Amino acid sequence: MDTLFDYMEKYDYQNLFICQDKALDFKAIIAIHDTTLGPATGGCRMWDRYTSEMDAIEDALRLARGMTYKYAAAGVNLGGGKAVIIGDPKRKDREPVFRALGRFINRLGGKYITGEDVGTTLKDMEYIRMETEFVVTLPTYLGGAGDISPMTAFGTIRAIQACCMRVYGSESLEGKRVAVQGLGAVGHNIVEQLHELGAKLAVTDIDFSKVEAMATKYRLEILRPEAIYDWDCDIFCPCALGKVINDETLNRLKCKIICGSANNQLAEEGHGELLEKKGIVYAPDYIANAGGTIYDTDRLEVGDVSHERGREKVSRIYEKMVRVFEISDRDKIPTCQAADRMAEERIKQIAEVKKL
Ligand code: NAD
Repeated sequence: MDTLFDYMEKYDYQNLFICQDKALDFKAIIAIHDTTLGPATGGCRMWDRYTSEMDAIEDALRLARGMTYKYAAAGVNLGGGKAVIIGDPKRKDREPVFRALGRFINRLGGKYITGEDVGTTLKDMEYIRMETEFVVTLPTYLGGAGDISPMTAFGTIRAIQACCMRVYGSESLEGKRVAVQGLGAVGHNIVEQLHELGAKLAVTDIDFSKVEAMATKYRLEILRPEAIYDWDCDIFCPCALGKVINDETLNRLKCKIICGSANNQLAEEGHGELLEKKGIVYAPDYIANAGGTIYDTDRLEVGDVSHERGREKVSRIYEKMVRVFEISDRDKIPTCQAADRMAEERIKQIAEVKKL
């Protein structure tokens, strides 16, 4: 990283807040990237494996910028922000920690809205809600959307359908061979929904009990975790880890489409270009996995949670993917770059609109 101000200047960040309380052993960072489209919004991560304080700050900044792009590309009217609590995600005394964060967030008067992320839970969000209204991810009994994974899965499937239209000229998944990596909150929902759409499925998970549970319900092929990259299929659907598209897997993949919910699927941005050269259509991860967050944040705009309205909005991920392909063709760039360009173009246009 360059110096902090150089880095913030380079990517045009607005604010960085450092929060601490000695008595509570509380250390947190709130990063705000861009608020052109609306208040900076993004989950709160709790993590203790940072190599340094700067490492944690860099993580918060990077993630906040990622949220700017995610919302902008998804057509949501929110900006990008993120909070990082430096601490053991298994820490037991959670109420004071998250209420403390809630008070810091409240001081920002709505400039930043938080939510759940790695290391935090819906229960933690309840503690934050005791101190501030600026928290979006909440259980249904507190007016939130509850578990958003089924909507993330639905959004990913809409992205898969758009990819199928590009590759096969039809969005039908009937008979398509799909390899699903990871059967967690999103992956198992994807398998259920793909099964209903008539796809032929192969699945894997390092937790074999999850594979067994799926195999008792559906007819599907079971793969060893490492074997999934070699399986001859139409669609590879990564729903577990990041960096699964890397120098090693790239030469093994036999699919025509890569579209899954996992974050940061490309080990390096250059892998997007290499996929293009191999003739594999790649759905940029933050477009394909935006469904949950589109559903979750919908109530900030409308005031209540509606499954039907949420599903309608999530369904439009299909059109977003079509736009990504258009930009990719127009500017002759890989889809991962086209997604960024789509987000940047929207922010620029809305900034103009807001001048009126
Ligand atoms: P999860 O933790 O519930 O599930 C992940 C699953 O992947 C687990 O079952 C785990 O055993 C399995 N796994 C881990 N390593 C594996 C490997 N090497 N091979 C095969 N399986 C492996 O997580 P989730 O909520 O289902 O999220 C999955 C991915 O989607 C993550 O990258 C997450 O960041 C991303 N995502 C999730 C949501 C959401 O709504 N939950 C939204 C956006 C993005």
